[in-house]
Amino acid sequence: MPEGDTIFRAARTLHRALGGKTIEAFATRLPQLQGARLVGRRVERVRPRGKNLLMELDDGRVLHSHLLMSGSWHIYREGDRWRKPRRRADVVITTEPWRAVAFDLPVARLLKSERASPLLRQLGPDLLDEAVRLEDVLPRLRRANELPLGVALMRQHVVAGIGNVYKSEVLFLARLDPFAAVSSVGDDALLGVLSTARELMQRNLVGFARTTRKRWEGRLWVYGRAGEACRVCGGSLRMRRQGDDGRSTYYCPACQGVGPPGPHFAGDAALETRRRLQRK
Ligand SMILES: [Zn+2]
Repeated sequence: MPEGDTIFRAARTLHRALGGKTIEAFATRLPQLQGARLVGRRVERVRPRGKNLLMELDDGRVLHSHLLMSGSWHIYREGDRWRKPRRRADVVITTEPWRAVAFDLPVARLLKSERASPLLRQLGPDLLDEAVRLEDVLPRLRRANELPLGVALMRQHVVAGIGNVYKSEVLFLARLDPFAAVSSVGDDALLGVLSTARELMQRNLVGFARTTRKRWEGRLWVYGRAGEACRVCGGSLRMRRQGDDGRSTYYCPACQGVGPPGPHFAGDAALETRRRLQRK
């Protein structure tokens, strides 16, 4: 699943190419977009909303897409070689001089307006939106108090934009147990988690879309590194599936004080001490 910063970069690239431009041709193989009558409309703005991409048109309509695991948007000029087969192109929007091509889009639909979508209305604040104050995100996390940290951070109506990679990385950096309930963590520690997530995502916005992630992956602390040595304590990193959708959570048992699977680790004195400290 692309993280919020991936979507943010995609939106920025699309906006620079299409913003203010008139759509000269529109082609799609998606049944729900057939007959959409986009030709002649102007693209006002392309912006991210959590992990959703919104293309706003001058008549108020919004082309909403979500990339999930598979989708991507590319920008080409006339005559450019496409980096994916043409038969996998779901949407092609032609302006002068840029052409935006979406491949393998799992979600794409045309909305009368952003407010017409309950999903978008319910999305939590976006960490990459600089107007969002972390103090305003805190009460939303508190309403998810009974959830494990690693699950709550991924709930898009709590906070939008944090994906699976950042979830593991941020909780490691904060030395927090991803399987502990949100309620066991103090406000300062939660604000620290949000602030680290925002910082990592913002840092990853710098540079070119195609190289940043690769460069960044070499610096991952725990994500995708199960069985390898922790870069801090040298212990063996682990992966455990978490939440209803069984997303992978990577962690260091020693650094993050993670006990064996199960709801209670009351016998683990070290962990209890750590939790007490975190509450302060
Ligand atoms: Zn460690």
